Amino acid sequence: MNPLHKEFILTLEGVNKTFDGFKAISALNFYMDVGELRIIIGPNGAGKSTMMDIITGRTRPDTGRVEYEKNTDLTRLNEYQINRLGISRKFQTPSVYVGHSVFQNILLSLKGDRGVFAALCHRITPSETERIHNVLTTVGLAEKSNWKAGALSHGQKQWLEIGMLLAQDPKLLLVDEPAAGMSDEETAKTGELLLSLEGKHSVVVIEHDMAFVRQLGRKVTVLHQGTVLCEGSVDQVQNDERVIEVYLGRKKKDKT
Ligand code: ADP
Ligand code: MG
Repeated sequence: MNPLHKEFILTLEGVNKTFDGFKAISALNFYMDVGELRIIIGPNGAGKSTMMDIITGRTRPDTGRVEYEKNTDLTRLNEYQINRLGISRKFQTPSVYVGHSVFQNILLSLKGDRGVFAALCHRITPSETERIHNVLTTVGLAEKSNWKAGALSHGQKQWLEIGMLLAQDPKLLLVDEPAAGMSDEETAKTGELLLSLEGKHSVVVIEHDMAFVRQLGRKVTVLHQGTVLCEGSVDQVQNDERVIEVYLGRKKKDKT
């Protein structure tokens, strides 16, 4: 049960979702503290992305409670409304405006609903410039402010996209496999970046790379067949017999 003294940013209770008779999410319970950085692992098809789809309103659960902060029932809201409440999601592949500068990419995100042309022609206030600079510093791209986004490496594009989400100052950030396709050095930097967000934002990270999970060193939730198999420190989950059997014992890394 949900301990009453805790302040949760996110509560999922008894969530179920069936696709054409296939139970993708099954009696899922998940609690996350405000400001927490949580890692979700699990074999391919475990329901990790579907869980994010449910939180962000892309998929509606059949039954169950999905609550944000205190008393906001997310199952009643659409994707747009949920995003407006401060929940942002980063998909696996980066989607940045390759023809625009790094600075302009963050600016476009900051301006939100405005069209690209209007956003870029609009006068930029000193506070906006400062904000963009702060975001670029956070994601380690301050020196590349004038670069075309298309000239960035894969890893740098991922950081730029995280910066674009940060420009909107989300309370809850959902990141699906941020280190996929990155070099070891980029992966390590991504870990540092995510850790630097902890406390200021609540962050959920789906990840396959156990070295990266170990670097993050935060509470891990293991999903299996749409439900929580086990939760705890990296060491706890790696030594859990059930986890070894369904996931970590497998030799090959699975791709999502
Ligand atoms: P993971 O991200 O853990 O690899 P997913 O959440 O993507 O797993 O998928 C869980 C299961 O649900 C998979 O078997 C997948 O095929 C199924 N699934 C996910 N989304 C849909 C959908 N929109 N329609 C039908 N089946 C889906
Ligand atoms: Mg997935």
